[in-house]
Amino acid sequence: MQYTFSTPIEYIPHVGPAFGKRLKTLKIKTLGDLVFYFPKYYQDYSNIKRIDSIKINESACIKGSVLEIQEEKSLRKRMAITKAVIQDETASIEVVWFNQPYIFKNIKKGDTLILAGKIAINNNHIYLSSPTFEKVSDKENMHLGKIAGVYSETKGITSRWIRFVLKPILDEIKNKIPETLPEEVIKKHDLISLREALYQIHFPTNMELAQKAQERFSFENIFMITLFAAKKKIENEKETSIPVPINKNVIDRFLDDLPFELTQEQKKSGWQIIKDMTRSYPMNRLLQGDVGSGKTVVSIMATINTVKNKSQVVVMAPTEILAKQHFKTFFNILKGYNINIGLLTGKEDKYYSKKLKSDTIEISRERLLKKTADGEIDVLIGTHALIASNPKKKTAKRETKVLFNNLGLVVVDEQHRFGVKQRAALCGKMKDKIPHLLSMTATPIPRSLALTIWGDLDLSTITEMPKGRKVIKTNIITETNRQKAYNFIEEQIKDGRQAFVICPRIDANDEKKEIMLEMKNVKEEYDKLSKKIFPHRKIEILHGKMTPKEKEKIMRDFRLKKFDILVSTSVVEVGIDIPNATVMMIEGADRFGLAQLHQFRGRVGRGEYQSYCFLLTDSSSTKTNQRLQAMIKYDSGFKLSEMDLKIRGPGDFFGVRQWGIPDFAMNALKDSRIIEKIKETAEEIIGYDIQLKKYPTLKVRLESFSEKIHLE
Ligand code: ADP
Ligand code: MG
Repeated sequence: MQYTFSTPIEYIPHVGPAFGKRLKTLKIKTLGDLVFYFPKYYQDYSNIKRIDSIKINESACIKGSVLEIQEEKSLRKRMAITKAVIQDETASIEVVWFNQPYIFKNIKKGDTLILAGKIAINNNHIYLSSPTFEKVSDKENMHLGKIAGVYSETKGITSRWIRFVLKPILDEIKNKIPETLPEEVIKKHDLISLREALYQIHFPTNMELAQKAQERFSFENIFMITLFAAKKKIENEKETSIPVPINKNVIDRFLDDLPFELTQEQKKSGWQIIKDMTRSYPMNRLLQGDVGSGKTVVSIMATINTVKNKSQVVVMAPTEILAKQHFKTFFNILKGYNINIGLLTGKEDKYYSKKLKSDTIEISRERLLKKTADGEIDVLIGTHALIASNPKKKTAKRETKVLFNNLGLVVVDEQHRFGVKQRAALCGKMKDKIPHLLSMTATPIPRSLALTIWGDLDLSTITEMPKGRKVIKTNIITETNRQKAYNFIEEQIKDGRQAFVICPRIDANDEKKEIMLEMKNVKEEYDKLSKKIFPHRKIEILHGKMTPKEKEKIMRDFRLKKFDILVSTSVVEVGIDIPNATVMMIEGADRFGLAQLHQFRGRVGRGEYQSYCFLLTDSSSTKTNQRLQAMIKYDSGFKLSEMDLKIRGPGDFFGVRQWGIPDFAMNALKDSRIIEKIKETAEEIIGYDIQLKKYPTLKVRLESFSEKIHLE
């Protein structure tokens, strides 16, 4: 059989339908998928030590036979504890695995094992703690005394098995793997070939070569992202849109009329947008700014210039509440400007007419749509209902085929909540001309990272807050102070305020499992709080298993003060305003990235009251402490996200984990100098060969890459 990257995985020797099915849960469907399924890390089995020579706290690799093995259950947590004794010719040592029940099933007395892990000590008792291991007798084992890749595993698929299947097939196809990167790029950046890299990433000769392989794939991943972005950018520049000239008088009047002065960065962003829109190809700009930094008013500045130039504006928000909030804001600010504004959501349609001057009225969907299509509505604000195309779907009970007369500007708020397709659907509302697009987000992403991921977008950033904002008081709380924190919350509730409690994040290999475990966690926390700590208070829960509708209802009830405490997983809605909530208590704060902690903190301090953020942790590591201290020191999301990038890498940014880029490539994204270099190369190639005619294998790889990777 001739194997290629597109050979279905079942046809590979030793795989077959049963393993094929399991592999599919790891998204491995073809040989190519398997070959590009890289180890998470490596275990060095090449340096085996005598048991009598190992030292406490060091990481060591030993080889010996199993003298005893047994399984216990810890009473408190019902966790499986597997204990074994391993003996070599010099001594014996105890080995302990926590919560890995399958190990007990897989190891028998008398087996010979190679184990690698850390030597720990507890109450004068020395043991090898949760080591990785290889069975020497294993026919699947080909890595004795070598460096072995450790993969993300799933039920029935171990790292050993992956290596066992992969090695022979890789040997067979190795010499037929075509190079994807242009030769001059490989030379210029001193990379190793794809063939060599694929081999070394799975079966490294030594750690240096494993690293060279990682470097090559890091390069390749970032190269693909930037290539993709550069291509989109050039394609975008070939489109046509309606140029919107600058109406300086109107903008000056608008700025004068505002009840406050815009911050420098608001002004700068506003002018960047307005200037972009004078071009005859579509603007594609992202406005980033912390929660509360005043992005809405910047979008209104662009709106008024557009409307005064006889073009329409549409604003899409991710939730009903936000859409209504925007409608109110737009209508309050634009009242005196002779502008008609419509609101279109799944539930209600409203209309503000310039003839009415002072108030809004209900309007039928049909009339609103007609007025929009006629161009009578200048600004239309709404939810997903703006693009709902299937009237049978429950969310869009009524027909909503929104058509515009002359759509000039599309504003998408909280853009990461919408997919590329949804944004495109809004922009495709005009036949031949593409409207200008302004996306807004409160997720602070460091500039270097943003410019890579959103390389096809222009970026405006607001880092300063409007004057007079109250800083949220942030505290690190350890177990000893927990009760004090609860007492404080009680006091706040007595004063009429509300509180959030966020449960820790749980990492499982499997997303579904993660959601299940987090849900369980939230329920336990809820029980504890409602039965023991705050039995006389009303408490509700929010988690990822709930439908968007259920979530919205909870948030609405919280807003209406129907309960006092909301216990939630990390799903707590972005952009939701609960001005009466003053405490944000985050359990297991050390498990979250700074950027995410900052997002949570932004849920409070939105009203007139002084607000508080409690970071709970039982970790005593200085690194954790340093990280959490940063939350006390800084209140700028951008500052914190830059620190996060330095400390933890980009994996923790919103959505980034879902892209499907290997962790080591993610790590390369930390280094803005590498990014710059790669970007330059990608732009150069796309600049002279946008269709990649000269590089057919690269073209194919880019296509499959852009299908797999979801840059949102
Ligand atoms: P976000 O960037 O989170 O969307 P908003 O646009 O909702 O923030 O603005 C938050 C609040 O700040 C609003 O009430 C808005 O009126 C107010 N605001 C915006 N800009 C300024 C400013 N320059 N000075 C004072 N208040 C401002
Ligand atoms: Mg906003």
